[in-house]
Amino acid sequence: MTVWSVIGAGVAGLAVASELAARGATVQVFDPGGPPGPHGCSWWAGGMLAPWCEFENAEEPVLRLGQEALGWWAARTKVDRLGTLVVANARDLPDLRRFARRTHGFQEVVTDDIAQLEPDLHGFGKGLFFVDEAHLDPRRALNDLYHTLKKQGVVFHKVPAPEALDNVIDCRGLHARESLTDLRGVKGEMLVIRCPEVTLTRPVRLLHPRMPLYIVPRGDGVYMLGATMIESEDSDRITARSMLELLSAAYALNPGFGEAEVLEIGVDLRPAFPDNLPRIRRRGGRIYANGLYRHGYLLAPALAQGVADLALENKHSEMVDEDRA
Ligand SMILES: Cc1cc2nc3c(=O)[nH]c(=O)nc-3n(C[C@H](O)[C@H](O)[C@H](O)COP(=O)(O)OP(=O)(O)OC[C@H]3O[C@@H](n4cnc5c(N)ncnc54)[C@H](O)[C@@H]3O)c2cc1C
Repeated sequence: MTVWSVIGAGVAGLAVASELAARGATVQVFDPGGPPGPHGCSWWAGGMLAPWCEFENAEEPVLRLGQEALGWWAARTKVDRLGTLVVANARDLPDLRRFARRTHGFQEVVTDDIAQLEPDLHGFGKGLFFVDEAHLDPRRALNDLYHTLKKQGVVFHKVPAPEALDNVIDCRGLHARESLTDLRGVKGEMLVIRCPEVTLTRPVRLLHPRMPLYIVPRGDGVYMLGATMIESEDSDRITARSMLELLSAAYALNPGFGEAEVLEIGVDLRPAFPDNLPRIRRRGGRIYANGLYRHGYLLAPALAQGVADLALENKHSEMVDEDRA
């Protein structure tokens, strides 16, 4: 019997394990960090399933494959399908127009529509509403995958995988850099805040020429505020500038956020290839699945399906680039 060993239990590894198990394969998972937690980049994500918005600054596969992610996740965890609202301050309306030119799948909204969608957003005369987008709570999603896999009999080992294993699927994110030399880290900083005084029900993006930011509701007055995108491999600390920008964005959306408690500060490096698209590579007996960049939750389902196609049926999806192996 073939046993597939997934190494790394971030969103990539858990999605791959879930897809393999769903197709009847026998799977085990190795991660020295143990169950999902702050040791993985996946812990710090916003959890926006926003392919239309992301298309503003991404390649076509992100839009196409990202749309398929919504159903994949909805079968495995709670997904809120409430859309995304994009707004800009009056002085930044050219940014809103540029965003509209580069995307589609939105309705233009004005003050009254915005007030109806999000009564606690004031002072925005125009916006874009991406009605088909969704969001999930990444930590809940990781835990749901983890516990479902355990119930299905998948064994999790809290150690690095032994060297001599066959049928390995390497999902170590940035830790696979010694083998995937074109992988880089893109720094992301985020905050988790609590502010029961302000109610937002869906992800809101605030366009800004220097640093576009978003806020994602996590329920019970808790919000994820993110995220910076910095070409830096320093993941030690958040900078004062980033902290100021993140908090100013929240304050610009509603001054009530000035009273928020800062619950968490998160900093991590997104694993990315030069074109910021994920890749599946087979090298010797090992399959590498990596490079999810800022689209961990959006593209993990397509990545996992591509890995399962390759591993179980030797079928090559568009993410496979064995020439580079
Ligand atoms: C601030 C921020 C906001 C983001 N927002 C979003 C968002 O809104 N939507 C979205 O889709 N994406 C978002 N992302 C991107 C997303 O988080 C990443 O693309 C994703 O987490 C990468 O997942 P991964 O599984 O490849 O890596 P990781 O989550 O880092 O997982 C790698 C795992 O490998 C394990 N590992 C390391 N060494 C070994 C070893 N030797 N053996 C076994 N296991 C090992 C680690 O412990 C870790 O658990 C965001 C990222 C950041 C930083």
